[in-house]
Amino acid sequence: MKKALITGITGQDASYLAEFLLKKGYKVFGTTRRSSTVNNERIVHIQDQITILQGDLLDQSSLASALIEAEPDEVYNLAAQSFVKTSWNQPVLTGEFTALGVTRLLEAIRVVNPKIKFYQASSSEMFGKVTESPQKETTRFHPRSPYGVAKVYGHYITVNYRESFDIFACSGILFNHESPRRGLEFVTRKISNAVARIRLNKQDKLELGSLEPKRDWGFAGDYVEAMWLMLQQEKPDDYVIATGENHSVKEFVELAFKVVGIDDWRKYTVWDKKEHMRPAEVDYLIGDYGKAKRVLGWTPKTSFKTLVEMMVKADLEREK
Ligand code: NDP
Ligand code: GDP
Repeated sequence: MKKALITGITGQDASYLAEFLLKKGYKVFGTTRRSSTVNNERIVHIQDQITILQGDLLDQSSLASALIEAEPDEVYNLAAQSFVKTSWNQPVLTGEFTALGVTRLLEAIRVVNPKIKFYQASSSEMFGKVTESPQKETTRFHPRSPYGVAKVYGHYITVNYRESFDIFACSGILFNHESPRRGLEFVTRKISNAVARIRLNKQDKLELGSLEPKRDWGFAGDYVEAMWLMLQQEKPDDYVIATGENHSVKEFVELAFKVVGIDDWRKYTVWDKKEHMRPAEVDYLIGDYGKAKRVLGWTPKTSFKTLVEMMVKADLEREK
């Protein structure tokens, strides 16, 4: 039986990855950081099947202890301060978690067992102010937030440990991926939740920043398969994972309101609100997943329309 350890097991992606690996017959371990309240709503349905260990990205010895206890074949580093906007309020902490946290984990792997295969959750935010479209593995990085900068560090330290110590380390450059389990502060879930609440007369308005930015939005459930596939190859490498299609925030809003039968979305939406704008914006992201398709045999399965419908319907159910 193969063993996998996932950091950030309480997060969106980890919940889908854990389900996926359990179906593949893995023994799954997940790390959480200590908190005074229980924070397991995304994994409550599978928590009897996984082993939870304590591990904080700020504390290298806790990561090493988790590796010693779990003895994993594969480690998926999904833990991070993952919200771009917060990274301007907590730039140093974001660097500690999202950048140096990767080195702490890689160091723990190097010391405990350098044969462990490692997946790093890199991000399309590294492309930021894009220099070519669509963005692929060779596109130059120009991050636009402390989060993006931290992810660039995480990406390159992963490449460096591969080149320095021959560790089987892969960096998955994933474009935005969403689901009914997405955090409420991200724009997609903020919209789906507000639309459901407006439909049910529990909320009057949806308040947003700019409606213009475009993202390549995929479904998280599809993307975790790509993470696993990267670690099943003969050689470690880096891959862009995306849908190859992008849509504006406005399109997301329009479609989400349509799902609940509201055509006049403007009536319920306020935009260009200053408090939801960012000091520097990423205007346009679209990924070329050609390498992943060619080498991993991976393609996205869920369309934009299906994703929006899935999220709005799930929030309607939850809010009822
Ligand atoms: P989430 O925000 O849902 O999950 C992040 C996880 O990291 C949570 O379990 C959180 O724990 C944990 N965490 C935060 N800080 C620490 C810490 N100091 N020590 C240990 N654990 C910590 O993110 P997603 O599931 O959406 O994303 C997974 C990874 O993929 C992240 O690294 C993210 O940056 C990256 N990524 C995500 C994309 C997306 O569109 N979803 C796109 C590209 C990359 P807690 O519950 O305690 O807060
Ligand atoms: P990101 O791509 O990781 O920053 O994911 P988000 O879901 O947080 O943001 C996606 C895009 O939506 C960004 O360009 C945001 O500026 C834009 N956006 C517009 N209004 C909002 C809002 O109210 N909240 C969030 N989170 N993003 C918004």
